[in-house]
Order: sequence, then C-alpha cells, then structure tokens
Amino acid sequence: MQLVFATHNPGKLQEVREILAPKYEVLGLADLNDHEEIVEDADTLQGNAIIKAETVWQRHGLNCFSDDTGLEILALNGQPGVYSARYAGPQKNSENNMDKVLQELKEANDRSAQFRTVMALHWNDKIELFEGIVKGHIATERSGSKGFGYDPIFIPEGYDRSFAEMDAALKNSMSHRGRAMEKLINFLLDQA
Ligand code: IMP
Repeated sequence: MQLVFATHNPGKLQEVREILAPKYEVLGLADLNDHEEIVEDADTLQGNAIIKAETVWQRHGLNCFSDDTGLEILALNGQPGVYSARYAGPQKNSENNMDKVLQELKEANDRSAQFRTVMALHWNDKIELFEGIVKGHIATERSGSKGFGYDPIFIPEGYDRSFAEMDAALKNSMSHRGRAMEKLINFLLDQA
C-alpha cells in the first residue's frame, strides 16, 4: 500500500521507508512532484500536523502522515513551541534562535524544557495522532556540533551532554521524534 510522509527531508524519509517496507511503500512529497508550499498557520503542533496530512490527502487522495515539533521551555510558558523554527524571525536561523533562547533564560533559575513531536496520520477518513516527548533542560551555552536546530543547547534528562554531542543512534533512541515515530509505526504494522 502506498503511504505519503509529508516531508521534503530525505533523511527522515529514508529511515521510515526502510522500517515500513515491504508492507507500505512510503513516498515523500518530492516523489509526488509536489513542491507547492503547505501553509502551516495553526497555533498548535497538532493543528499544523493535521493541516499537512489533510492537505496531502486532498491533493493526492493518498493516506498520509506528517510531523510537527516544538521546543517547550517552562520558564517561557511553553515557548517557542509551535514557533520553534522561526523564533528569531522568518529566516528560520538556528543560531539566532538559540541566541534568543539563551538571552531570554539569562535570569532563569528553572531551565526545564522538553521537545515534543506530534505526528498526524490521515488513515481511511480518520485522523490518528501520536505524540513523543523528551524531557531535559536548556544549557547555559552551546556544546557539540552534531544534529541540528536547538541540539547544542538541549541536555536530555539523565545525561550531562547535549543532543549535539551524541551520535544520531543514541539521540534517536530517546528523542521526541523517535518516540512518536515508534507509536505510528506500531499502529501501521498492526493494521491488517
Ligand atoms: P519541524 O517541525 O521538524 O520542522 O521542527 C521545527 C523546529 O524545531 C526546527 O526548525 C528545529 O529548529 C526544531 N527542532 C525539531 N526537532 C529538533 C531536534 O531533534 N533537535 C533540535 N531542534 C529540533
């Protein structure tokens, strides 16, 4: 059965494609020649994930899943949250986003934070949701050069190094996206 992952990220696509084969043939947006922007204007992660899955269903008539992720910082009342990618402006620049977070937490005693991913699956006219969370805290400065986004300033619970100092396999074993993806994959593999 064909199934779309509403992403342009080849790394994310390849990983899930291998796990779900041969039961599902997972297509990315590029495989469908779909380069039209999807406007993610909801104010929740769940809302944006649903917009992406529904848009692909409407455009292509194929079941589809999508993900949306945010960094939620307690001292900032859950911000940047759904605005994580463009926290410091529309350029979506990770260095500027990290600078802004570090600046805003300068006086904070409690630096608790979590990454949260919501995956939405449009499945035979229903929406199924899957959530993954990794708890941790924001460091006082960057460390490490692996990963992407806010990885250099996020220290997961139980560790004293940032996501950017970990191999991809270790990060994926505990990450927000890894946990949400595992739930989605179990759901799909359970379907008759
Ligand atoms: P997206 O929903 O995957 O596009 O993620 C939104 C934003 O959250 C990205 O632009 C990144 O800045 C940040 N982000 C998502 N996942 C991660 C992660 O695993 N590590 C660090 N930052 C992330």
